[in-house]
Amino acid sequence: MDLASRIRQLGFRKWYERQLIDCHLALTTCFLCAITVASCLEAVSFAEFGWKPASLLAGVFAAIGLGWYSWHRYITVLQRAEAYGSHSSCPACNTYARFEILASGHAAEGPYLDPKAGSLPYPWLRVRCRKCGAAWRMPD
Ligand SMILES: [Zn+2]
Repeated sequence: MDLASRIRQLGFRKWYERQLIDCHLALTTCFLCAITVASCLEAVSFAEFGWKPASLLAGVFAAIGLGWYSWHRYITVLQRAEAYGSHSSCPACNTYARFEILASGHAAEGPYLDPKAGSLPYPWLRVRCRKCGAAWRMPD
């Protein structure tokens, strides 16, 4: 499901809240992976070779991989949430997160093409305030 459909379905507040929960679960996973790496490295003993040191090292590498993925997910989800969250108040009446989505698309397409938006990895949303009717684009 694309971003505009998801925000239409949940509403911006719930979408934003879920993004923050999602990214902080990823941060918690990353932290637990760091603890796993430290504890496995402490338990590894190369004095005797066998399944135990090999499985501990495999656990270390798995935890490093999962931790790196979780850190990357934390950063990307948080950046996306903040990119939309920082433009979720109406510029005319300052009402937070009460808007309807008029149109959406990717940075390189659509009638709201902006040269500086070419570097944005997120789709743009053209929204209208439900309170005063002002329209703006997010993220900008
Ligand atoms: Zn407004």
